[in-house]
Amino acid sequence: MPPTPTHCPYCALQCGMFVDAEAMITPREDVPANAGGALCQKGWTAGELLSAPDRVTAPLMRAHRDAPFERVSWEAALDRITAEVGRVQDRHGRDAVAVFGGGGLTNEKAYQLGKFARVALRTANIDYNGRFCMSSAAAAQNRAFGLDRGLPVPVTDVPEAGAILLAGGNVAETMPPFVRHLAAQRERGGRLIVVDPRETPTARLADLHLQLTPGTDLALANGLLHLAMTEGLIDEAYLARRVSGLEAVRTVVNAYWPERVERITGVPVPRLREAVRLLGTAARALILTARGAEQHATGTDTVTAFVNLALGLGLPGRPGSGFGCLTGQGNGQGGREHGQKADQLPGYRRIDDPAARRHVARVWGVRPEDLPGPGLSAAELLGALGTEDGPRALLVFGSNPVVSAPDSARVEKRLDALEFLAVADFVPSETAMRADVVLPTAQWAEETGTVTNLEGRVLLRRAARPRPAGVRDDLEIIAALAERLKAPGRFSTEPSEVFEELRAASAGGIADYSGITYERIVAETGVFWPCPGEGHPGTPRVFLDRFATPDGRARMVPVEHRGPVERPCADYPLHLTTGRVLAHYQSGAQTRRVRALVDAVPEAFVELHPDLAGRLGVDDGATVRVTSRRGSAVAKVRVCATIRRDTVFMPFHWAGAARANLLTNPALDPISRMPEFKVCAVRVDAVDQD
Ligand code: SF4
Repeated sequence: MPPTPTHCPYCALQCGMFVDAEAMITPREDVPANAGGALCQKGWTAGELLSAPDRVTAPLMRAHRDAPFERVSWEAALDRITAEVGRVQDRHGRDAVAVFGGGGLTNEKAYQLGKFARVALRTANIDYNGRFCMSSAAAAQNRAFGLDRGLPVPVTDVPEAGAILLAGGNVAETMPPFVRHLAAQRERGGRLIVVDPRETPTARLADLHLQLTPGTDLALANGLLHLAMTEGLIDEAYLARRVSGLEAVRTVVNAYWPERVERITGVPVPRLREAVRLLGTAARALILTARGAEQHATGTDTVTAFVNLALGLGLPGRPGSGFGCLTGQGNGQGGREHGQKADQLPGYRRIDDPAARRHVARVWGVRPEDLPGPGLSAAELLGALGTEDGPRALLVFGSNPVVSAPDSARVEKRLDALEFLAVADFVPSETAMRADVVLPTAQWAEETGTVTNLEGRVLLRRAARPRPAGVRDDLEIIAALAERLKAPGRFSTEPSEVFEELRAASAGGIADYSGITYERIVAETGVFWPCPGEGHPGTPRVFLDRFATPDGRARMVPVEHRGPVERPCADYPLHLTTGRVLAHYQSGAQTRRVRALVDAVPEAFVELHPDLAGRLGVDDGATVRVTSRRGSAVAKVRVCATIRRDTVFMPFHWAGAARANLLTNPALDPISRMPEFKVCAVRVDAVDQD
């Protein structure tokens, strides 16, 4: 059999690859994201995931949480879930059963999971781990543009940009093939500016690195806009024609004069001036944010400040230019467009919009008044589990919040307080191991379905291998549960049929997929949404004529720097920031099971500046305890001069005592409900190894 063309199971670039029957992987050259056939180490080794040694291949169940798991039949496992859901809802109400989804699920699964929650369980409480990923960028873009799509242009436009500012993104490790697009940009004379508290591999590629104090990105962006205004670099004609709200923003950024911004951010004034000059004089420019700028309790306002800067320079809606967000998870973009979020219905519709409810209810064959309203966002949902008014039972699909949620010891406690927990996953993740029932699922190369990458390009993953005996697809699991719960309407197990229904449900919405078909995706190597009709070409570049707001104008919104919730103090004198390494992905549930990736980076570490290491009396390889107000994590030291003296860094891919999210702050952004993963106050102590 010839190798099957499909896409990587990991990040939002969704590189194209061929997979053969032996799970050997070769890159595709026809997919623009791959930049001519590149894959990173994770992509090359993704075949090994299919035969993970501890892969779950039969449903597991136990009578109570202290009992060992036993292999049981699918009938027994599904019957137990149905009985527990019924019991909990009879006793505590419909919202007492919650669903937690994942940004790695295909569009079909995300759509079906949202429908299952609203129609079969009739619970308001469904959200997903993408809330931890790009929700602040989504909220800011919706506020400014009326539409949230990762990149406003295809990756093939990146090399054309005369200047790119990347705030809080380390693409050299998170999505290395993207670096080829940046390299092409620089070969053509383009300049790259990176904003990051660490001198990451990406920052080392940059022409200009703005190494700011963690949690001060908003002040930096306001300061750059101040300079653009005072140096005559803003595009007054564009602003008059296409943007509202300039004067209120001008009033606020007046107070962000360069010396003040240097004091707040630690970035020298000449560097601020150079950055704004590069951006303001380029014929085409892109301003991009990623998790470093977004994962803050002020994340929405921080992204808004970068959007304001982009609007001030006249970038959004100009060919090859604009503001964008580098999404993180494989289907983080599509995952939030089709009803997996607590406040949304398919097509990126608001769940509290009566017209949206009528439209989706008609597609689902139910009455609009029977659809629940908005539910709890991810962190709030996890925080409420097992409480008096919170959910008493939880169904998790494709997520591992025990490792990936902030203040994760609290998450463990909340999961343990549940009356019932079921997890659908293909490996025994740390979350699955706390469940009452574990359902073994198919994974990426064993299933067909669409994903939407960081460009807003809808792609088709195709099954390349049969799944192991005993394993089911999530769509089959959802359909079986819906049938047992006597849900109205139809829950197809066939991805193409679910996609047809998704097209109808999204028609007329912001994320309109109604013109996208599997055939078109294959023929055109992906189709960009919005695509309202089969005759529509799709929309590779957004906002060229108008923004998706009622009056067609983008909205500038004044925002003020507030800084992180926790600042260094006598007890916790350092900033902690967290992030990823090249060899691992998200909670590590997948990549910690791939030999080559474990060999590359076998364990967590703590980056310390040499001066700090000297003060603590520790060398490279010593063990330290990092302590925040929520707990402690223990890991080995990496001494490096690339980090600020006041900051330590930990990657968040590991479980157990080295779990970075034992430390992180669950404080939420008031709009996006994004937790403040990216900065909290900690102290570091040497651990006696005698
Ligand atoms: Fe491409 Fe991301 Fe997969 Fe690496 S992890 S091969 S960058 S999609």
